Amino acid sequence: MTTERSAIVTGSTSGIGLAIATALAQSGHDVMLNGLGKPEEIEATRARLADQHGVEVLYSGADMSSPESVGEMVAKAEQAFGKVDILVNNAGIQHVAPIEEFPAGKWDQILAINLSASFHTIRHALPGMKSRKFGRIIQLASAHALVASPFKSAYVAAKHGIAGLTKTVALEGAEHGVTANAVCPGYVLTPLVEKQIPEQAKARGISEDAVIRDVLLAAQPTKRFVTVEEVASLVLFLAGDTAGSITGAIIPIDGGWTCH
Ligand code: NAD
Repeated sequence: MTTERSAIVTGSTSGIGLAIATALAQSGHDVMLNGLGKPEEIEATRARLADQHGVEVLYSGADMSSPESVGEMVAKAEQAFGKVDILVNNAGIQHVAPIEEFPAGKWDQILAINLSASFHTIRHALPGMKSRKFGRIIQLASAHALVASPFKSAYVAAKHGIAGLTKTVALEGAEHGVTANAVCPGYVLTPLVEKQIPEQAKARGISEDAVIRDVLLAAQPTKRFVTVEEVASLVLFLAGDTAGSITGAIIPIDGGWTCH
C-alpha cells in the first residue's frame, strides 16, 4: 500500500529513531530507515514494520558522516516514494571527555554526524518540499541545544548548531509550506546513554550508579528518563497537518531539566 506521506528517519535502527520510524509507520507513512547495525536485524525490523502497518519501508545504509552518501539516500527515497514529505534528522553519536583530552578526530566525527549531516539532508530534500508546498523537517537536537554540560564539548557545540540551522531553515521554508523544528529531549535510556554511563564514571571518578543518580537524573526534575515513545509522539505531532504554524521552535521534552 502506498500512502500519502513519506518520511526519512536517519539513525532509525536503534533508540529514539526506531521509535519515531515505528510511530510514523503505525500512522500510515512510508518510511526510509537508516543507520548502522547487523544487516539481518535491520532487515527483520524493516520487514516487521512493513508487514504490521501495511506501508512501504525501505532501508538505506548511508553513512551520515559522508555528504555524498547522504545525497544518495535522499535521492533513493525520492525515487522510491516519489517524494520526501517528512525528514527526521536523528542520527547522532556522543563522546564524553574533558576538552584537553578530547580526541580531535572525535570532534570532527561528531560535528559531521550530529550537525553537518542535517545540512546535507536538508539541502537535498528541501527543493522537492518547496515545489510541492509541503514539508516537515524535524531535528533531534537535545537539551544540550539549550544548555551545556561538562565533558561534552563537541556534542553541545553540534546541538547548539542544530538550533541555529533549524531557525534558518524555518525562515527559508516559511512561505513554501515547509516547517523546521528541533525537538530537545533530556535523558532517554537508549544505547547512546547506556554507553556514556561508564565514560562519565571514568571522567568524574565516580560509580556508574552515582552517574545515573547524581549526574543524569540529577538534572531532570521528574527523576525519570524520558521515554522513546514520548519523543516519537511529539515528532509525529510536528509531522502532521495541524502543526503547520509551528516552525523554528526549539522544543524541550526534558522533564523540566532546562527550567533550572
Ligand atoms: P542510539 O545510539 O540508540 O541511536 C543512534 C542512531 O544513529 C543509530 O541508529 C545509529 O546506527 C545511528 N548512527 C550512528 N552513526 C551513524 C552514521 N555515521 N550514519 C548513519 N547512522 C548512524 O541513540 P539515541 O539515544 O536514540 O539518539 C538519537 C538522537 O537523539 C541523537 O541525535 C541524540 O543526540 C539525540 N538525543 C538523545 C538523547 C538520549 O538521552 N538518548 C537525549 C537527547 C538527544
